[in-house]
Amino acid sequence: MTDIIGSSVFTVSQERKIVTAIPGPKSDALHARRLAVVPTGVSSVLPVYIARANGAILVDVDGNQFIDMGAGIGVTTVGHTEAAVVEAASAQLHDVTHTLFTITPYEGYVRVAELLAEHTPGDFAKKTMLANSGAEAVENAVKIARKHTRRVGVAVLEHAYHGRTNLTMAMNFKAAPYSTGFGPFAGDVYRAPNSYPYHDGLSGAEAATRTIDYLEKTVGSYDLACLVVEPIQGEGGFVVPAEGFLPTLQAWCTEKGIVFIADEIQSGMARTGAYFASEHFGLVPDMITSAKGIAGGLPLAAVTGRAEIMDSALPGGLGGTFGGNPVATAAAIAVFDEIERLGLLAEATRVEQTLSAGLLELQKKYDIIGEVRGVGAMIAIELVQPGTGQTTKEPNPAAVTALAAYAAQHGVILLTAGTYGNVLRFLPSLTISDALLEDALGVLDDGFATLA
Ligand SMILES: *Cc1c(COP(=O)(O)O)cnc(C)c1O
Repeated sequence: MTDIIGSSVFTVSQERKIVTAIPGPKSDALHARRLAVVPTGVSSVLPVYIARANGAILVDVDGNQFIDMGAGIGVTTVGHTEAAVVEAASAQLHDVTHTLFTITPYEGYVRVAELLAEHTPGDFAKKTMLANSGAEAVENAVKIARKHTRRVGVAVLEHAYHGRTNLTMAMNFKAAPYSTGFGPFAGDVYRAPNSYPYHDGLSGAEAATRTIDYLEKTVGSYDLACLVVEPIQGEGGFVVPAEGFLPTLQAWCTEKGIVFIADEIQSGMARTGAYFASEHFGLVPDMITSAKGIAGGLPLAAVTGRAEIMDSALPGGLGGTFGGNPVATAAAIAVFDEIERLGLLAEATRVEQTLSAGLLELQKKYDIIGEVRGVGAMIAIELVQPGTGQTTKEPNPAAVTALAAYAAQHGVILLTAGTYGNVLRFLPSLTISDALLEDALGVLDDGFATLA
């Protein structure tokens, strides 16, 4: 079956359809096999096994169709199995699957570096190294910043999430489940207060003063190699900082010789209606990390930064067997093309309008929706205990769990987030139709009604 919506052609009908219990019998059987051979530390939000995916729809092994409001955590920004991405990756698979860029290079790696230089903020010479995962990109950004500054301190913000490797575990705010029992952790990581307008009520300037004072007191700018920030925090619950917070931090970094690194692994690659969310805040980071949405579902990550900073590592100091794999770079080039061809920056804004309008309506009906926030197709609601939305804002993780479960039973994949597990986040593919968004919002409305 083919669905044509706008310029996109879909090979799976773009509709929600539940035909068995959730999970269905075939998923249950697969899950039993999985429990025997996959460790419990690798968990799944929903034990529904996916057989096909296209556009904004996941089809499970029992034939159920889900509206995917998570896109694999903002990975399939151009849509699942997007035709141009599949075609480019398939062709590349036949031409060259792997040679290792650090042995015998190929054009795709260079082209991705050119595209990132073009589309990241800043009108200066930039260079890019490619890696396999977001955490690996963050680790490399820190390595390079240390080499460049000859300092060791790494500053991060409260509610941050940067990955699951040893260094990035130390950079995360939340211990459980990410780092519980996994120490010892990397040292010289300093965590400072962030800007969280719904909770701290501070202006951007006030929050920035607090952050800078804290870092000056607890570590001192002289020992800081870098400050790593997510312009809009992802796992932390789509926390959008108050206006002026990030530019003030960046100005302080520039003055003190601290490398300002924007971790745009979740917020980048057109997700927020700009290539990088930094643009919304007038930021020009010294370095930007990308991953998630960059290659339409294939594993690829990047560190892009000022040429003089990026060139500070010794030849051979950066790299890895699979980093910038030819198939992944071919997919990434197709993603950049599709962002332009399908006008996905504007589509992100359309998604924002539809989702925000619907969620603000729900907020009028259900007072446990404390806040609706986000930019582009990176929208969240923070749920609080009844009657506390304007006062103590007590977290309501139980409602989030119940709503995500209700949505899954009714064919909508919804992701949770937040340090207190009380945030529902929406980060669908940018090619998702308004009809599917409205349908998902309707399911959510019903879910809230069953809670009440
Ligand atoms: C997902 C994420 C990471 C880690 O990326 P992986 O590919 O899972 O290693 C780092 N930073 C942010 C902001 C993320 O959202």
